[in-house]
Amino acid sequence: MKKRLTLLGSTGSIGESTLDVVARHPDRFSVYALTAHRNGDKLVAQCLRFQPEVAVVGDAETAARVAAQLRDAGCKTEVAYGPQALVDVSKSAQCDTVVAAIVGAAGLAPTLAAARAGKRILLANKEALVMSGAIFMDAVRDHHATLLPVDSEHNAIFQCLPSEASAHGGVSKIILTASGGPFRTREPSTLVDVTPDEACKHPNWVMGRKISVDSATMMNKGLEVIEAHWLFGLPGERIEVLIHPQSVIHSLVSYVDGSVLAQLGNPDMRTPIAHALAFPERVDSGVAQLDLVQVASLSFEKPDYARFPCLALAMKALAEGGVASAALNAANEVAVDAFLSRKIGFMAIAQTVDAVLNALPNRTPSGLDDVLEADAAARRAATVFIESHLAGARRMDRTVQ
Ligand code: NAD
Ligand code: MG
Repeated sequence: MKKRLTLLGSTGSIGESTLDVVARHPDRFSVYALTAHRNGDKLVAQCLRFQPEVAVVGDAETAARVAAQLRDAGCKTEVAYGPQALVDVSKSAQCDTVVAAIVGAAGLAPTLAAARAGKRILLANKEALVMSGAIFMDAVRDHHATLLPVDSEHNAIFQCLPSEASAHGGVSKIILTASGGPFRTREPSTLVDVTPDEACKHPNWVMGRKISVDSATMMNKGLEVIEAHWLFGLPGERIEVLIHPQSVIHSLVSYVDGSVLAQLGNPDMRTPIAHALAFPERVDSGVAQLDLVQVASLSFEKPDYARFPCLALAMKALAEGGVASAALNAANEVAVDAFLSRKIGFMAIAQTVDAVLNALPNRTPSGLDDVLEADAAARRAATVFIESHLAGARRMDRTVQ
């Protein structure tokens, strides 16, 4: 039977890669709903090609524009907007699979709704799991949802774990590889001056701007350690980060007998997406076969926590538990946004996250409301820190003049 998809965040990098794989297998997959935030034109083009039943956008104005364009083109796709519409298409009885590819906390509500509706969830939106780990995993278990990781490292680990994963048969640790991003070898004293475009120029992957900045600070790897903790049920001490600049080994699982299993492939998200879409079968993803002779050599290094303080902050938040990960994620989202709009410098991202984690009290969340409250408090604290930081920087400017 064909799988019927809701694709949350279809106009993004993961969304487009997903549609590329879907288009190769019209006999296996059809699209029920596509969603975007503001990029109405791209969404219209996707609707004309994939003819979903519903398209969702962020606001009424974009919805009216998209609806008019679709009507003029004779397309019958119904257009909705706003957070509730995202939840509705995620839990609809008309879809069985939800691809969670919205960036950031905005993806939490619809992804959680998919879990509560017992869907098969292909998870790219790591921030949702970082925020609400225990609550989300409980919902998956209680409602018999299926969770398949799309993040390349987690998909690799999923492929290398024993098939009876719950038993953790003989696993000693999991090893997440990281490219080290564009600043792995850059002189640390010059990092204060990097521009958003430099931070977004990843050496191996083409991705959305927020995750690209997270890769440059290595917060992305920190979020992925937390993601791995929840997905695979291992404590932080058994999750290791290994720098591997070529991004050919996507992650590894180490066993007690000394065996280490790895998953390799070209750095192209269509491989983990195709794996999760078709699981447990395998389908063509459009990605070229790996040529190891061409790759020639693979290298490895220890992560440098002094150069990448965000990685250490994420590990600390995981160790602290409670709502610390939600606060870390929220502060990071605010700081990355401020960096991308050139309000703060690159190094101020880690400073903001650190200040917020130090300022806010931690506690064990008793439900989603506590998580959302911690998220909101961290966003407020990050904004205040950035404003005072900026005011401080302006005072310094005046002193210098
Ligand atoms: P992107 O910025 O390219 O796309 C984000 C998508 O989310 C877009 O469709 C956008 O319209 C939508 N969106 C943004 N804000 C929204 C909001 N407030 N409400 C509703 N929709 C909104 O991002 P991406 O690179 O595709 O990443 C998406 C997610 O997948 C992120 O969580 C990222 O960490 C994860 N991920 C991405 C990659 C990658 O290679 N790009 C790899 C692994 C994991
Ligand atoms: Mg990843």
